[in-house]
Amino acid sequence: MSQAQNAQTKLEELRQSALAKMQGAASSKDLYEVKVEFLGKNGFLTEIMKEMASLPKEEKPLFGKLVNEVKQALEQSYQQAELKLKAHEIEEKMANEEMDLTLPAVGGGNQGSEHPVAKVTDEIVRIMSRLGYSLRQGPWIEKDFYNFEALNIPANHPARDMQDTFFIDPTHVLRTHTSPIQIHSMESERPPLRILGTGAVFRCDSDISHLPHFHQIEGMCVDRHVSMADLKGTVSFFVREFFGAGLKTRFRPSFFPFTEPSAEIDCTCPICKGKGCSLCKSSGWIEIGGCGLINPKVFGFTGVQYPEWQGFAFGFGIERMAIIKYGVEDIRLFVENNLKFNQQFE
Ligand SMILES: [Zn+2]
Repeated sequence: MSQAQNAQTKLEELRQSALAKMQGAASSKDLYEVKVEFLGKNGFLTEIMKEMASLPKEEKPLFGKLVNEVKQALEQSYQQAELKLKAHEIEEKMANEEMDLTLPAVGGGNQGSEHPVAKVTDEIVRIMSRLGYSLRQGPWIEKDFYNFEALNIPANHPARDMQDTFFIDPTHVLRTHTSPIQIHSMESERPPLRILGTGAVFRCDSDISHLPHFHQIEGMCVDRHVSMADLKGTVSFFVREFFGAGLKTRFRPSFFPFTEPSAEIDCTCPICKGKGCSLCKSSGWIEIGGCGLINPKVFGFTGVQYPEWQGFAFGFGIERMAIIKYGVEDIRLFVENNLKFNQQFE
């Protein structure tokens, strides 16, 4: 047998042996060992390549070609066997592995915390639900009718100014307040009503005390024989529950198109308890929102019959409530998503 024939026989034996071992491998780990044994840097195939040096010159190309063919065949066979074994191993692992998702995490790790806006919203909803109020939501993009017209904000009202409102198109806006929720509720439900509308609102405004995207919550009561006294009692109850017992509430006359009469709501400054501090500018009082009896013109847009039914409404900015309750100095902190800031409200 010539040297070349001898080498070819060896190569063929090696190929058969490698294929058999690969097919017989019981795990992907075993398979990898077979690969290293035959195709590795110091494997059998490398050994055989070394014999090429001693072959006659004219036989080298053919032998080299054969070695390459064997190498490719083995690599292909390895890949196929690996795919099969790995799929099988994953199936087996899934079948045997049991996971108890109710076990507490090891080491605790970094746990998320509730955002102060969500926390304040939840608290207000909890307090008001004790008076029978339940939550409603509405779309962010509102028709002009719901955001303005039905709330008695006529076409020439300053609130419609381009400076304040994000227009989607001439008849749709990003809602500038949560009051459209009141209109939706009066259209689709029958009084008596006690609802809370909450969510994001949008205005073209941004500085240390204004965000273009902030949150409001407002309450609306529609019932028979509703008076300012009922409104004052409701708001006073809320202030004591939310900011603390002993705090007083006062109404200052004001103007909103959708309520008549209207008032600004002040309460005893919760930070200094009325003694005077930088938050309340030494006055001892702090403005927390607006309110009033629902303007009969608003009822006229909804089908609710006035004066058989009357109502009041009150609203707060949620970030502002959080600022007052927790003494936050810059409203922009609420949107920076700094974990250290958010975690203070745990
Ligand atoms: Zn104060």
